[in-house]
Amino acid sequence: MFYEVIVDISNSEIDKVFDYHAPFSVEVGHRVLVPFGRRQVEGFVVGKKESSDCKYDIKDIIMKLDEYPVILPEMLELARFMATKNLRMIDCLRLFIPSKLRGGRVKILKKNYLSYNTELSLEEALQLLPKSAKAQRAIAIRMQKDGIVGETELNAEYSPTSVKALVERGILIRLIQEESRIPDSLKRDAKVVTLTDEQQSAVDTITDGEAGTYLIHGVTGSGKTEIYMNVIEKVLSEGKTAIMLVPEISLTPQMHGLFRARFGDEVSVLHSGLSDGERYDEWRRLLLGQARVALGARSAVFAPLKDLGVIIIDEEHDNSYVSESNPRYFTSEVAEFRAKYNQAKLLLGSATPALDTYHLAMQGEYKLITLKNRVNKKQMPTIETIDMRDEIRMGNMGVFSAPLISALEQTLKDGNQAMLFLNRRGYASFKRCKSCGFVPKCPNCDVSLTYHQEDNTLRCHYCGAKYRTITKCPKCGYEDLKEGKTGTEKVVDEVKRLFPNARVLRMDNDTTKTKDSYVQILSEFGEGKADILVGTQMIAKGHDFKNVTLVGIIDADLSLYYSDYRSAERTFQLITQVAGRAGREQKPGQVIMQTYSPRHYVYGYAKAYDYEGFYQKEINSRELTKYPPFTKIVRLLVLAEELEEARAGADKLTARLVTLKNKKDGMRNLQKMSAPLKRLRNFYRYQVVIWLDREKEEELMPYIYQIANEGNTDKVTVFTEINPQQML
Ligand code: ADP
Ligand code: ZN
Repeated sequence: MFYEVIVDISNSEIDKVFDYHAPFSVEVGHRVLVPFGRRQVEGFVVGKKESSDCKYDIKDIIMKLDEYPVILPEMLELARFMATKNLRMIDCLRLFIPSKLRGGRVKILKKNYLSYNTELSLEEALQLLPKSAKAQRAIAIRMQKDGIVGETELNAEYSPTSVKALVERGILIRLIQEESRIPDSLKRDAKVVTLTDEQQSAVDTITDGEAGTYLIHGVTGSGKTEIYMNVIEKVLSEGKTAIMLVPEISLTPQMHGLFRARFGDEVSVLHSGLSDGERYDEWRRLLLGQARVALGARSAVFAPLKDLGVIIIDEEHDNSYVSESNPRYFTSEVAEFRAKYNQAKLLLGSATPALDTYHLAMQGEYKLITLKNRVNKKQMPTIETIDMRDEIRMGNMGVFSAPLISALEQTLKDGNQAMLFLNRRGYASFKRCKSCGFVPKCPNCDVSLTYHQEDNTLRCHYCGAKYRTITKCPKCGYEDLKEGKTGTEKVVDEVKRLFPNARVLRMDNDTTKTKDSYVQILSEFGEGKADILVGTQMIAKGHDFKNVTLVGIIDADLSLYYSDYRSAERTFQLITQVAGRAGREQKPGQVIMQTYSPRHYVYGYAKAYDYEGFYQKEINSRELTKYPPFTKIVRLLVLAEELEEARAGADKLTARLVTLKNKKDGMRNLQKMSAPLKRLRNFYRYQVVIWLDREKEEELMPYIYQIANEGNTDKVTVFTEINPQQML
């Protein structure tokens, strides 16, 4: 028998598969140690065969690294599928196992047990022992009755010498068992709720329905989590398994506690806050079938579960589901693959589904389930728009409008809590007229231009057009066009100046650098240890705070003017999500939204909680302007340590793409340029952006992936991005 092994070495530009023999039996999916050149390296067995056409001398596998195969057949198929998309197979395989397993760096928690040797009757055993050895006789009697007991416990109860003597006489047998460290969760009682009619009908539709993709579009507070848990319960009762994905930020001890209360040890949780040992143990419990529900952030989509019945992606619109570091994958694409493989159901849930997702539901590709009401019949909070240009005219140049200040005052007086939200993202910036709200846009692409400080230009990140920056507003003549940015720190300072006695917490990238700092900030706020929480996107998601009655959106336009064709969609999502944090319990909620462009259509729809209306408007304009889902935008990002290499790499790609374009229909707008962020982490960055017609995309993508793959050399790395989130 010959074994095909992918060796786990970094810095090789292609997946290398080598043939080996083995003097023992090996399964596909095993991790093994193999001789490789003069070294010994780890690898994965990816195939078995009867013959090899190998020219070199075939060597033996040295050893198996784990007792069982760690890569399930399904996952091997998945890695092969991912490898067709400009990813290396070895990078995918690495994703599927706990990182510390590689290089043998997990400490496996082991415990010694002693078991009675059942080949001996008690009489036979006692005959082996001297009459005077009272303790040894007592142990033998006890163990014959109890079977297996921990060695430490037995030693403590009797004496280590007597215990050892029994082992030496063959009456007791030593066993070593791997133990599991189970991560702590917040203890919660399993709350028994009666499902609302809407919830029940959603559960029935899903559990009675066929395999395929379901989209649950349910307003914030409609009780989606309860639906998920009921579906999982059903799946478990059929002997199958489940994966539940949430954005990392929602994976709080509360969430974990909720699932533990419901499913006990059947739940295994996978997230970045676990120690390496815990992560390994949780993963292994899934692999060995000791836990059948995987709860986690994005990477839990790779949970080693067999017989999946359902994969759930909560807050499916969330951009944390797109991996932006290597290997770059789409969680939904992986989930779809696994659901198909297992003939399982894929469940997407959101109060504000991604436009592309909703479009597929409208076209009948996904089954749509709509929940229109909050479980407790609470009204959605009212959203009030404040025109900041009026504030400026009245002489208020500050961060807060007069109505927001008085609402904050009232909230503090009533002993309630407020959240102040600032939607900042990345490094990008734009110019904006503070008087009329005008923002310069690209005449070709209809997206906002990005301000580049280094050469004082305005640029379009889609077509590369470059303009001299303007300081005077072409619309109203106002002389002082400003960079439109405010930071969370500035907001906190303002709050402290206006309300010196208020207790304020801040949550953004800077205050959440360590693993569990965000959990800590959120739980402090949840316990009422602060009155006001100031934060970015992070505070918008899924949290359930009971005393929050006021949400202030400091500058709703910030996400509207990112150079991104999805900016209106993102803005709608953010407003709806952040508004959903207010008034979740008995107290009614209020949202104050500050803007410089109050008449922008997105605000009207958001205020009315009219997702369908927004969808119609937005999808029509996407169709007119030929943006996704009516086209596909592909960006090939070329990275190299030397500028010349990056440029040459991009030139080579472009040349091949031009050839393809001349041969095949359906490619438009092929553009090569240096990426908006020219240099990042020591790499020079070039980009090639292509737009594909929707009807041709399926035919063209394999060619493009191939060109991208072949563009990889030992000096140049090419990444493929589909409809990129932010073109930096
Ligand atoms: P969503 O994710 O849709 O925003 P959640 O799942 O967070 O909503 O549910 C909101 C709140 O309603 C939670 O506190 C949950 O425990 C509660 N809840 C859910 N379903 C019911 C029900 N049928 N009866 C009473 N309370 C419920
Ligand atoms: Zn443009």
